[in-house]
Amino acid sequence: MKLLFLGTGAADWSLEVQPDPEYRRFTSTLIDGTLLIDPGPHVLDAIRTFGVDMKGIKYVINTHRHSDHYNEDSLHALVENGAEFIDFKAGDKKQVGKYFIEAYPANHGKIETAHFFISDGEKILFYGLDGSWLMPDESYGLVKKGVDYAILDGTLGDVLGDIRIIEHNDLGMIRELVGALKPYVKRFCINHYAKQYFPTREVTDAFGKALGVDTTFDGLEREI
Ligand SMILES: [Zn+2]
Ligand SMILES: [Zn+2]
Repeated sequence: MKLLFLGTGAADWSLEVQPDPEYRRFTSTLIDGTLLIDPGPHVLDAIRTFGVDMKGIKYVINTHRHSDHYNEDSLHALVENGAEFIDFKAGDKKQVGKYFIEAYPANHGKIETAHFFISDGEKILFYGLDGSWLMPDESYGLVKKGVDYAILDGTLGDVLGDIRIIEHNDLGMIRELVGALKPYVKRFCINHYAKQYFPTREVTDAFGKALGVDTTFDGLEREI
């Protein structure tokens, strides 16, 4: 399974795409060039910038309707180019092309949010953002299935007192989650970084190294 991180930032990065190499688009991920998670407002720019064949994108799914993850114009353009939007509600299990996808409810404030287990028959990816901690059902799902790669919400830094902790992880929480779930997950990755705490890739990578988890940047490809 090949991941292309089209965008890796939380909602505090600017809506206008910046030429700055440290700039992050809003979080969106493309799997094997065919399955796109979250048609946010930066997706079309990322597709152009990273040379993605737009007609190769067959399916679009969405974690939740926050404006950094879901944009009508982006979705419309993807559908115009032949993609099918498959709406998932937490609890749904669907075969989408060669992928079996299960959606679990996430703890992400008031807006209904799904985290996904995505299996291609060989590998299982857990896509756990946005959200604060993990809900019991998805945690037990991880324990029961065992997954190859788990992407967790890494919005907040090593800080105390940020109210966004209601809806997002900080690094202390990630340390706890990774420590507890390590036997069931081959490799962890944090993604969806707030600009406030992760202004540069150097800072982000240092946190990843300290926690023993992968980090991301826009345009990164990773085979899992
Ligand atoms: Zn977000
Ligand atoms: Zn959100």
